[in-house]
Amino acid sequence: MLKLSAIGILLACGSAQAATQTVDCGRLLDVKTGAWRDKVSIVIEDGVIKSVGPMSAGAGAGANADANPTAGRVDLSAHSCLPGLIDMHVHLTGETQKQADALRDAISLNPADHAYRSVVFAERTLKAGFTTVRDLGASDGLNVSLKRAIAAGSIPGPRMFTSGKSIATTGGHADPTNNFSQRLSHALGTPGPNEGVVNSAEGAREAVRARYKEGADLIKVTATGGVLSQARNGQNAQYTEDELRAIVSTAKDYGFRVAAHAHGTEGIKRALRAGIDSIEHGTIMDDDTIALFKKHGAWYVPTMSAGRYVADKARDPDYYSPLVRPKAAAIGPQIQATFARAYKAGVKIAFGTDAGVFPHGENAKEFAYMVEAGMAPLEAIRAATLNAAALLDQGTRLGSVEPGYAADIIAVAGDPLRDIALLQQVRFVMKDGVVYKQP
Ligand SMILES: [Zn+2]
Repeated sequence: MLKLSAIGILLACGSAQAATQTVDCGRLLDVKTGAWRDKVSIVIEDGVIKSVGPMSAGAGAGANADANPTAGRVDLSAHSCLPGLIDMHVHLTGETQKQADALRDAISLNPADHAYRSVVFAERTLKAGFTTVRDLGASDGLNVSLKRAIAAGSIPGPRMFTSGKSIATTGGHADPTNNFSQRLSHALGTPGPNEGVVNSAEGAREAVRARYKEGADLIKVTATGGVLSQARNGQNAQYTEDELRAIVSTAKDYGFRVAAHAHGTEGIKRALRAGIDSIEHGTIMDDDTIALFKKHGAWYVPTMSAGRYVADKARDPDYYSPLVRPKAAAIGPQIQATFARAYKAGVKIAFGTDAGVFPHGENAKEFAYMVEAGMAPLEAIRAATLNAAALLDQGTRLGSVEPGYAADIIAVAGDPLRDIALLQQVRFVMKDGVVYKQP
């Protein structure tokens, strides 16, 4: 059974890529100008966009014909094309479970079990239209290994940028031994920099260097408590400003950007003053915090999808542990109002969901929450293309369909600027010129 499903996974990889391909789009969204371009042919060479121009003669004749990527021509003349979407906050190596199941798995599963599961999550994410993700934290090096397997073309999945293990304080959000019995804790030993747990500026530098060694692309620090950790407080500051500064300055030495998980105001402010690049969740922001965002030019990654999901699951008395449930009920529902205020105030926003906290592949629901909170559909799409690429420092390669960019193209039926929910039904997915989903 296991062997059969492994073969299925291999067969599910993208169709072989012709050296030169053409994608004919009924229209293409230019995310930079915000305008649709009608009847466009995108020429791709070796996975990179070579030209974008008027649809060539004879193209798009059969609107209902099957896309045939191996013939080097894809007919999307009845579709609207957009750049591949980017989710700046996912955890591809795990997915939400009822507490009893999560506890059972924590005791009985090996890292390899989680790795096999993550293969499915990665493919689901890619087929939902997300051609790039930023994975913000996993244990046992799973996310770094997953990234390598996808980059090598061994398994289908989004292009990954990953933080490796999150950096946390003892007992903090992302201490992998939270809530273990004393006997189990003593048997496993105290987690240190390699496991991402440090409690000083010196330790913070060591933890950043450990991430460099493990193959991370960026740094993730949990600056405050969090909802799903087995700990009492979901929002208290957990690092001093001095420790956060040590993380940021060491990260710069290695070319890493830093993302900070933060729910409470004090922790958000410390992280912003320390110079981090993005605040994740950012649940409780006062006006001073919003002013600090703008002063430092930091990005806000709201993750409303996770907030909604945990608030919903908190109504089920069996889903989360007694420690987690009240935090989920209190923190989850606040994020959308915070997002609305931050957006109105002009805080820079990059699209991020915290997928894994809710089922992978449902990432695009976030667009609907953004629009519901007052963001224009075009701005929501920019948050998941141009803005996300800028935060990744990939603005000249990802997030737009134009010459010189990676051939990451998706298509939907209809106009997502009029109906943003269409992004939850992506019909076509190409990454690096390889087709993974066809109409
Ligand atoms: Zn997260």
